[in-house]
Amino acid sequence: ELNSQYDVIIIGAGPAGSLAASLLTQNNVSVLVVEKQHFPRFSIGESLLPQSMVYLQEANMVDAIKAAAPELGFQYKDGAAFFADNHPCHFDFGEKFTPGPGSTFQVKRAPFDQLLAQVAEQQGATFCFGQQVTQVRLQDPCIVTLQDEDGTSRDIQTRFILDASGFAKVLPRLLDLTLPSTFPVRSSVFCHVQDNIDSKTYDRNKILIETHPQCKDVWYWLIPFADGTASVGCVAKPDFFEKLESEQLETVSSSHEHSSHEHSVHEQWFDEAVNQSVRIKQLLATSTKANSVQYITAYSSNVKQLFGERYALLGNAGEFLDPIFSSGVTIAFKSAKLATDVLLKQLNDEDVCWQSEFADPLQQGVQTFKAFVESWYQGQLQDIIHFDDAPENIREMVCSILAGYAWDTNNPFVKHAKRRLNTLGQLCATS
Ligand code: FAD
Repeated sequence: ELNSQYDVIIIGAGPAGSLAASLLTQNNVSVLVVEKQHFPRFSIGESLLPQSMVYLQEANMVDAIKAAAPELGFQYKDGAAFFADNHPCHFDFGEKFTPGPGSTFQVKRAPFDQLLAQVAEQQGATFCFGQQVTQVRLQDPCIVTLQDEDGTSRDIQTRFILDASGFAKVLPRLLDLTLPSTFPVRSSVFCHVQDNIDSKTYDRNKILIETHPQCKDVWYWLIPFADGTASVGCVAKPDFFEKLESEQLETVSSSHEHSSHEHSVHEQWFDEAVNQSVRIKQLLATSTKANSVQYITAYSSNVKQLFGERYALLGNAGEFLDPIFSSGVTIAFKSAKLATDVLLKQLNDEDVCWQSEFADPLQQGVQTFKAFVESWYQGQLQDIIHFDDAPENIREMVCSILAGYAWDTNNPFVKHAKRRLNTLGQLCATS
């Protein structure tokens, strides 16, 4: 049974929502997390970065994650491997510029998100599943309207709302805060496979990112889990996939062997995209699909503002950049940590400044990742990553960002990301 009022209401029980709930409830704040779906539920975003372990540690969640890892198939991760133009290279997170954890996990998000919610619940937060937030009134106290699956609504009072609703962006939509991303629209096809990888040169402890042999702005991920399955995906502009379809349909109709209705379009896009890869195609030669192919598009987004008098936006409900550096969950955690620190002070009647204590520090790392994403698609960062003779300290600084330490202003690639990447990129391209 829910109370009629809570100090804080959190919309969404993804990583941002559960971490925020944990940090607040451990400081004796009453929290209600409202989640539309029933857990476990699928989510994309399966490769964590070592930086995220810092926030999980602060929420006292790491022990539970480590204890559950074998049973839930969480895969130990200590680096990132890249493959382009038949050139393999890798980064070990142990060899990074910034101090802090050098390993993390790759996780199926269904059990992972459920575990975080369970831990936060044990710590004292209240969760209600199968209820969605449909309306908010930002007065004092705020009124949040919940609707259950029968369509029945009820109002609950709160002092503050944290929106952690991910791509649904509940508050940005209700308050007209959404902004288009400055990135071009990209799409992704992905699925889980029983990978059957037996290659001796394959390191299961690293995410593998492969660049398409011809199209440098098209890339693949191979994210292994500990139970013999892996997540495989391809990211490209929509017209890349649409072209694959017409190419494939021609082959199909000329062979007369298959009906084009046999597989879904997304299934065809996935199969043909993987078929065009080199390393991943080899590794997955005897793999079988473990679930159906999914497609997601136009996921990058932004907002006009990250907070207001009685609300703040966390994780994807704020800004989402791009999947290339697996930064989504780490940014979601960082936003939850920063926001709950400010909110704890505010609930304690201390003076706070959401701009300088939440939005600005969050943006520091987001802007670092943004510069890295832009440089990746322009090709410069790919040259840097694959450049064998880069000085050791430069590799360590780049490695830090790949490990998620995008807020460490001691790292010159954080303070002057764009300029550094430009200069270094030109150097690597001409060497
Ligand atoms: P979510 O995890 O999306 O959680 C939001 C929750 O809110 C959901 O459970 C939803 O049901 C609930 N909700 C929605 N509307 C309502 C409502 N009205 N009322 C109540 N509840 C509601 N990130 C990584 O870190 N690593 C990766 O490898 C990675 N790969 C990616 C690949 C692709 C192709 C894409 C598109 C993204 C990837 N990401 C990755 C990003 C990652 O998916 C997100 O950044 C991350 O899930 C954001 O977490 P969150 O807590 O903000 O939101």
